Amino acid sequence: MSMIFEPKPTPTVEIAGSEKTFPVNRIYCVGLNYVDHVLEFGEDPAKVNPVYFMKPGDAVVADGVDVPYPAHTSNFHYEIELVVAIGKRASNVSEDEAEDHIYGYAVGNDLTRRDMQLALKDKGMPWDPSKGFDMSAPISAIHPASEIGHPKSARIWLSVNGDVKQDSNIDQMIASTAKIISDLSELYVLEPGDLIYTGTPSGIGAVVAGDVMDAGIDGIDTLTTKII
Ligand code: MN
Repeated sequence: MSMIFEPKPTPTVEIAGSEKTFPVNRIYCVGLNYVDHVLEFGEDPAKVNPVYFMKPGDAVVADGVDVPYPAHTSNFHYEIELVVAIGKRASNVSEDEAEDHIYGYAVGNDLTRRDMQLALKDKGMPWDPSKGFDMSAPISAIHPASEIGHPKSARIWLSVNGDVKQDSNIDQMIASTAKIISDLSELYVLEPGDLIYTGTPSGIGAVVAGDVMDAGIDGIDTLTTKII
């Protein structure tokens, strides 16, 4: 048997300080995972649980690569997020075991068609195309946990054209990275190559063509993306 055409190459993410790359499998995302962001969405943090959704693995965009303003939105949003890169299969793992499955960490931007997301949410319908579209997942190089450890507290920030829009700390996450991995590993088998975007703090907002987003998490990396 042979394949009827050559498959598309596996998407990859650079590994900092290395000639090697991280082959991307799935991209999982967490919504509503910072108290201040839950509040800006008009929700009650006491009544909200983090929500899980996905983007296609080939939505990754490397640092410095321009992203075209997508069709079917006039309210295109940034969301700065800590990204966890899975390096070892995880199925039904406890929070205590979760960190053993982490290869490293990166800085990500969960680009969102906000108007579409809110309209679909209002109708109680799936909002996949508002989140899981082409080039919707800019990401920095991945930094191995063997070099930077497992960050628990670090400034996370994003600016647009030099104006700081998001400025928080990853210690404000509602569900920890360990809790997220444990939860996801009950819903799916996590595989090496999976990325997890762990949610954004408050300050979300829109960008237009020509805007430049600079973002970072102290101790991990920075991420620059221009909208064209
Ligand atoms: Mn997000």
